[in-house]
Amino acid sequence: GPMNSLMLNTDGVQIPQLGFGVWQVPADEAEQVVATALRAGYRHIDTAAAYGNEEGVGRAVRASGLRREKVFVTTKLANADHARAEQAFDESLARLGLDHVDLYLIHWPVPKQDKYVQAWKAIEKIYRDGRAKAIGVSNFTVGTLTRLMNETDIVPSINQIELHPYFQQREMRAFHEANGILTEAWSPLGQGKGLLDDPALAVLADKHGKTPAQIVLRWHLQLGNVVIPKSVTPSRIAENIDVFDFILDPESMATVGALNRGLRFGGDPDTFN
Ligand code: NAD
Repeated sequence: GPMNSLMLNTDGVQIPQLGFGVWQVPADEAEQVVATALRAGYRHIDTAAAYGNEEGVGRAVRASGLRREKVFVTTKLANADHARAEQAFDESLARLGLDHVDLYLIHWPVPKQDKYVQAWKAIEKIYRDGRAKAIGVSNFTVGTLTRLMNETDIVPSINQIELHPYFQQREMRAFHEANGILTEAWSPLGQGKGLLDDPALAVLADKHGKTPAQIVLRWHLQLGNVVIPKSVTPSRIAENIDVFDFILDPESMATVGALNRGLRFGGDPDTFN
């Protein structure tokens, strides 16, 4: 079910494989939307300082009645804050109204700024102090991850990258697996743009009695990806978590696998910001 968790390389820390993303959820709607997700059964929320909605996320988590250890909260270090990561982390915690997060990520490497190694050393300290139960990165490439691992002590637990059937990231997934790093898929539904109208997904949806979004999310889960679909619509919030009662057979997995076309919807990590 939605509580199905994967082990991070951090001793004993598990991450619910399916979470709820809140990019582009307006600050004044975040509390309501996250409350809806928690009522629907989500136990993992993915936010970021840059999303401007940490306050609402924190209010919803605190008001949920769920024990803190039952909800996995991720936030991210903003690009402008690489040289002041500890302070930026404290500011995120204050906005969330929490005493720790479950996962703290460097949001983008921003190679031209060249401060991500410095940021990671500060984040290692945050981890050692117990204020982030696990730490990781986002939008890192083989090049930026290799440098980080060469120049610092702790291997990131996870790399959150753009990944969906039109952009399958096979090289990154293999690299992560070889290094004990989990793959987390952002924009797992391709931002709801053309992907969900793909005729091949309609055929699979009919075959399995599910929706195209559910087929795509099930494909991610069976690949071993952590997924964080976003919706503000209660029926879709429920639909996106209702993916634990069917299995894609190898032929259906191969059909989705064949949709790869190297199509990004988001920024290129080598140049973004
Ligand atoms: P997504 O792939 O989750 O798509 C969301 C959109 O798809 C919705 O706005 C809606 O239009 C549509 N949709 C959702 N459920 C649907 C359904 N059941 N049927 C039909 N349409 C549906 O896109 P996303 O929000 O870009 O990505 C998810 C999360 O990933 C974000 O909210 C954020 O938490 C994270 N993210 C991280 C980064 C990063 O740089 N680390 C970048 C982008 C997103």
